[in-house]
Amino acid sequence: MSCLFCRIIKGEIPSFKIYESSKVYAFLDINPLAEGHTLVIPKFHAAKMHEVPDEYLAEIMPAARKIALALGATPDDTFQYNILQNNGTLAHQVVQHVHYHIIPKPNEEAGLGVGWPQTPTDFDALKKTHEKLAAKIESLSK
Ligand code: AMP
Ligand code: ZN
Repeated sequence: MSCLFCRIIKGEIPSFKIYESSKVYAFLDINPLAEGHTLVIPKFHAAKMHEVPDEYLAEIMPAARKIALALGATPDDTFQYNILQNNGTLAHQVVQHVHYHIIPKPNEEAGLGVGWPQTPTDFDALKKTHEKLAAKIESLSK
């Protein structure tokens, strides 16, 4: 077994565990973008999100929510954070085991910096995209 994160789940490589259930494991990122930067991973080896069975994915966001609360999230909105999940090297994925980053955003400098290169489009282009995508998703089994 050569996958780094599978080895972390098994305890073969040390990690600072934050949360664990039968389907997910969460631990501190070794090179945090901000204090408390945590990774949530399914206990199922897959490189990309769409390869992970629903029963594992179903536990990711509840775990992320607990972690956000533990990090300091409150209803008053002072604690800010990003959730990031990269799929593919071009999309900035380095470790080839699905992982969700929970990244506190304490100020402008720390935490995640985001580029957002939007391209203006028009109604017709959106309509064509919608037709393709809606038809495709309809054909997928649940
Ligand atoms: P990504 O670019 O989305 O693949 O992010 C991979 C993340 O895994 C990076 O933020 C790394 O700092 C983190 N990472 C790599 N090795 C370890 C490790 N042994 N323990 C904790 N985090 C790690
Ligand atoms: Zn793995």
